[in-house]
Amino acid sequence: MRAYRFRIYPSEKQEEQMRQHLWLAKNLWNEMLEHSKQTYKDFGYFPTKNTLQLMVKGYGLYSQTQQEIAHRVHNAVMRVFKLRKKGVECGFPRFKSIERMKSLHYPQHETGFWLDKKLKVTPFGEIAIKKHREINGKIKTLTLKREASGKWFAVFSVDTPKEIPKENRGAAVGIDLGLMTFATLSNGEMIKNPRHLMKHEDRLAFIQRKFSKKKRRSSNRKKAKLKIARLHEKVADTRKDFLHKTSTQLVNDYSFIALEKLASQEMAEQNYGKSINDAGWNMFANMLAYKAEGAGCRVVFVDPKNTSKTCSRCGNIRDDLTLWDRVYNCPECGLSTDRDLNSAVNILIRATPGQGGSNACNSLLHEERDAAIAASMKQEAHIL
Ligand SMILES: [Zn+2]
Repeated sequence: MRAYRFRIYPSEKQEEQMRQHLWLAKNLWNEMLEHSKQTYKDFGYFPTKNTLQLMVKGYGLYSQTQQEIAHRVHNAVMRVFKLRKKGVECGFPRFKSIERMKSLHYPQHETGFWLDKKLKVTPFGEIAIKKHREINGKIKTLTLKREASGKWFAVFSVDTPKEIPKENRGAAVGIDLGLMTFATLSNGEMIKNPRHLMKHEDRLAFIQRKFSKKKRRSSNRKKAKLKIARLHEKVADTRKDFLHKTSTQLVNDYSFIALEKLASQEMAEQNYGKSINDAGWNMFANMLAYKAEGAGCRVVFVDPKNTSKTCSRCGNIRDDLTLWDRVYNCPECGLSTDRDLNSAVNILIRATPGQGGSNACNSLLHEERDAAIAASMKQEAHIL
């Protein structure tokens, strides 16, 4: 299953209708949740899916969309019930405000919606859609989504045919993802964050600072809020585009890619004091993983412990290495190389099993590492 997301352009009338449906969907969600809570309070059990489905009759939404909400409320409630039964403390599903109800679901193609040149959706009619790429596979479901910027999108889940893996004769590579340089490869190649993305991000930070100084509830504040939402969307789109292009190229160029197993959000915050990049890294790792198969590439995740502190030549661990040391100097063997490159080589070594026992494999790694170090030195010379 894959998701395809396209911008749609509803007419003024359609948009009004769609927003009204979001409103109804929100009310329906809240009513069913309230009913479930009350039933539990009064009788000690949750209403069945059937009961909920009877509640949605004639609510004014498209029938399958209503059923789907009943389905989701039931699932959410049951999840809580099961967790609590196991003794796990967890909060009840939340009531939704109109800001939190952003999407309408259509679970079945060719009944509730139809995609052709335009998108036909019951009961809104034909909506203009910008199909910027071809859909490869069988369309299953549709989600109409309203973003905070006010733009609407159609997201299709599509059953994609299984790809026949291509033959890939590329080399093996370790990749270190970083804050300064987006990715450093164990062969010395560096992938920088695109300049325009950084420009957008700087601008976003600037507007956000200005926004925090605006008076509460002023019309200027409202305007600024919309501006921020639009810029956020732009930053997210630009980043996603960059991640797509980069991941596609990597799985085509290499037959084996090793990455660090990514830390949880919490860990990332502890380690770097900021987590914005973490979301990007996770997305990137996912993209590599799902694109790899079709490209005949294997993606492996390794334990991230000490990948930057360990010397990639002799294995010595430098506990005194700080985040600000950009060059790895090894007092044991004299290796002096770029910090991220050292990590990338360690990641590759870690992902290659049996390298301790097999000489063939070991010497290959040594060769690769030496080539990588030579490449990095060349690059440094070039920069100088
Ligand atoms: Zn060393």
